[in-house]
Amino acid sequence: MVSSPKPWNREKEPFAELISAAAIATRVAELGAKITEDYKDKEDVVVIGVLKGSVIFLADLARHIALPIKLEFIGISSYGDATVSSGVVQITQDVSTPIEGKHVIVVEDIVDTGHTVGYLLENLKTRRPASIALASLLHKPERQERDVKIDYLGFTIPNKFVVGYGLDVAQQYRNLPYIGYVTGA
Ligand code: 5GP
Repeated sequence: MVSSPKPWNREKEPFAELISAAAIATRVAELGAKITEDYKDKEDVVVIGVLKGSVIFLADLARHIALPIKLEFIGISSYGDATVSSGVVQITQDVSTPIEGKHVIVVEDIVDTGHTVGYLLENLKTRRPASIALASLLHKPERQERDVKIDYLGFTIPNKFVVGYGLDVAQQYRNLPYIGYVTGA
């Protein structure tokens, strides 16, 4: 018998639930089905997860894509003040194989100002993939400064600092099974 994860002690968590684990699972399955439909006639599909925030979303999404995709990861870090996204981004870990001629789907945790993923998409486009699309679990439109087209979006959220399902607070809580926002309680 398969057992469910042990529930977290809600009284000790300084977070309020914004999106439940069940709602995430439903939406991720829908996105996977849509990607399967859109790419069913394509060869050489590469799904690139942006470390570290996308890994849990990517792991679930990939299992809802019923096609022989390849998985890659890319690591990026922002220069300068960590609390203000400048879009000046450094690639700290690159994909392991060239993407030229391949159908690329970039998987991100969140599009906030849009600078980070905007830079990344621009960089990847110079490598001449056959196509490039963006899947993001979350989008904060109130904060967006740079125009970025999200082809596969999980949820639009208000301007709150969110955590869980891959997103961190000081590198912790990425393994929270739901998306919460910091209440400070
Ligand atoms: P952007 O360049 O779009 O402003 O920022 C993108 C990155 O900032 C995301 O990939 C994520 O790592 C981080 N980020 C933006 N908003 C949040 C948030 O609400 N919570 C967490 N944990 N990280 C965020």
